[in-house]
Amino acid sequence: MVEGELRGVIALDGPSGTGKSTVARRLATILGAGYLDTGAMFRTVTLAVLRAGVDPTDEDAVARVAEGVDLRISTDPVHQEVLLGDENVGAEIRGPAVTLAVSAVSAVPRVRELLKQHQWRLIDEVSSSCGGIVVEGRDIGTAIAPDAALKVFLTASSDARAARRTRQDAAEGRVSTLDATKQDVERRDKLDSGRVASPLQPADDAVWLDTTHLDVAGVLDQILAIVDERDLRGVAAGPGRW
Ligand code: C5P
Repeated sequence: MVEGELRGVIALDGPSGTGKSTVARRLATILGAGYLDTGAMFRTVTLAVLRAGVDPTDEDAVARVAEGVDLRISTDPVHQEVLLGDENVGAEIRGPAVTLAVSAVSAVPRVRELLKQHQWRLIDEVSSSCGGIVVEGRDIGTAIAPDAALKVFLTASSDARAARRTRQDAAEGRVSTLDATKQDVERRDKLDSGRVASPLQPADDAVWLDTTHLDVAGVLDQILAIVDERDLRGVAAGPGRW
């Protein structure tokens, strides 16, 4: 394995429960890169919408809330923190109320535009300070960083994804059942893939990785092999690299 730090952007997209977050954070740590969880940003805006008592399907009202949101998110893969104003909302944004409403809020074009600008700023900052960043979401390879040095699209069967989400919920103290989680995963995939604004879809040049029968180490091995094949460690970033 080649030693060295990532230069450029790795875009990691795919539906819920494919192992994206775990893989993205470990990859960023191994590669000495920054990490951006764009799902956490959409979840935080959704929390603000719910707290404002706004219907998540009311696009104009959602857009007004989104315009006033004070959202800060860390890009350190080891110390993740998401702030709404001064409040750390890292746990609350993973709860059932936000999970139920997030796909509707994410489908609002103004929300996507605001978060796109925010994501671009963060990617710029991290790219100039540490050279590379792993960004995870649904539209990173298609809309946010279409020139990323590497785009990976993770997939897995809905049973495997529901099982992972249920284990994750249990580990983090949330009550859920396999059936309910499977329904939620499938419901969100449908909404996220079917929306007009930046739907969940692989970029034409994304590398597909089916994680159904792979553990985290197996996924990491495959991605790191491509990183080295493409010589993405320790290479000087060219202009407009991402
Ligand atoms: O990744 P996570 O499950 O936390 O994402 C929550 C939701 O945020 C997704 O179901 C999707 O509706 C939205 N999302 C998005 N675009 C992204 C990241 C997340 O629309 N880049």
